[in-house]
Amino acid sequence: MPQINSVKDYIRTIVDFPHEGIMFRDVTTLFADPRGFRMAIDQLLHPYAGAQIDKVVGLEARGFILGGAIAHQLSKGFVPIRKKGKLPAATIAEEYKLEYGEAVVEIHDDALQPGEKVLIVDDLLATGGTCEAGIKLCERLGAEVIGCAFIVDLPDLGGRRRLQAMGMDVHALCE
Ligand code: IMP
Repeated sequence: MPQINSVKDYIRTIVDFPHEGIMFRDVTTLFADPRGFRMAIDQLLHPYAGAQIDKVVGLEARGFILGGAIAHQLSKGFVPIRKKGKLPAATIAEEYKLEYGEAVVEIHDDALQPGEKVLIVDDLLATGGTCEAGIKLCERLGAEVIGCAFIVDLPDLGGRRRLQAMGMDVHALCE
């Protein structure tokens, strides 16, 4: 059996999912392993040791799993950013471009207070469109995004550059 040493070793690739030609990076195998999951949460938080974080914001859906664990570890609150139509109370929305078409994400309009410092979390950074929309939602509520943390960065898709161009601190555990 091959030895598992890093977070990357727990992630599997599913060929042709959800469409032909896509190599889907599947982190459910990382989440399912107690050592791997703890390693991922600890490493996601590592650069923010000592930083002020008031809320952890997770992007649907795998960002909820990571964000919930991180918020618990920090003893802070967790806030979800969801796809359009899923949140029950009053929301604000941001539209962003996908490869084909558009998508909309939403946050409850009372989920963050002006001046709060937030960490945004998701499993994977590709083009950065989803996270950029999430950052805009947080900033429209007056919060300050102190960082964006991911398990995987796909560097060829330019998400890191895009977020850094917005002045964001981007942290990813592997490429
Ligand atoms: P982006 O908006 O292009 O950066 O895409 C990132 C979003 O798509 C994240 O919410 C990811 O969860 C999801 N995503 C895209 N590709 C993958 C993948 O290969 N594995 C897991 N999630 C993915």
